[in-house]
Amino acid sequence: PIRISGISKTYKELTVLDSVDLDIRGGEFLTLLGASGSGKSTLLNILAGFVKPSGGTIEVDGVDVSRLPPHKRGLGMVFQHYALFPHMSVAENVAYPLKRLGVPKAEIIRRVGEALDMVDLGRMANRKPTEISGGQQQRVALARAIVFRPRVLLMDEPLGALDKMLREQLQLEIRKLHKDIGITFVFVTHDQDEALTMSDRIALLKDGQIVQLGTPEELYNAPSCRYAAEFVGVSN
Ligand code: ATP
Ligand code: MG
Repeated sequence: PIRISGISKTYKELTVLDSVDLDIRGGEFLTLLGASGSGKSTLLNILAGFVKPSGGTIEVDGVDVSRLPPHKRGLGMVFQHYALFPHMSVAENVAYPLKRLGVPKAEIIRRVGEALDMVDLGRMANRKPTEISGGQQQRVALARAIVFRPRVLLMDEPLGALDKMLREQLQLEIRKLHKDIGITFVFVTHDQDEALTMSDRIALLKDGQIVQLGTPEELYNAPSCRYAAEFVGVSN
């Protein structure tokens, strides 16, 4: 589990996160949902270690990771703009982070094959990113993140750049991946339908605060406030 306690972030006078508390259960699919500018990416980047909070602590499995650099937190991350290396094959792209870590070659081959199979791209291993579709490219980025065998996978609007049909397909695939590998997923989106279909629980952010935390059913049927009702509720 992940315990986020009193996390704040301010830039000059601007308060972006205002003492956020959030417990994320081990193995759950937790979505940070909120309008543009509500602080979703900031919170995810603080979790990942890319942004330093102004205050508060983060524990992963009971260990305070607040002072650890990103690569020591046991987290994988997938971004909206997944930036694959264009000159490398699909397999080389996925292998790249392991090579940098000095993992032995035989193990790299095994783990890359395993990760590509998980996202159903085994047959595309030798293609270049320009020779596959956008949805397949995003699946390569997913494979590149899970090849580390992270305890937690963080995803910041990973489907934002895809058209509607591809997005819906990838939503299902990411759900299936979550079921298959059984690790904690923290997913960011501003799309309420996406949050409702994918999540075990949703944390709704507004102006740097969590205004509701609950299952999709709870948010949909019993919004905690007017904002939640307007954003996800039945009145929508
Ligand atoms: P979106 O859905 O558009 O991605 P978001 O919920 O991810 O939005 P954040 O990127 O977390 O929002 O930004 C929250 C607020 O913090 C915004 O008002 C943004 O302008 C501000 N902000 C983010 N990074 C910085 C920074 N480095 N310096 C100053 N302000 C920042
Ligand atoms: Mg964002």
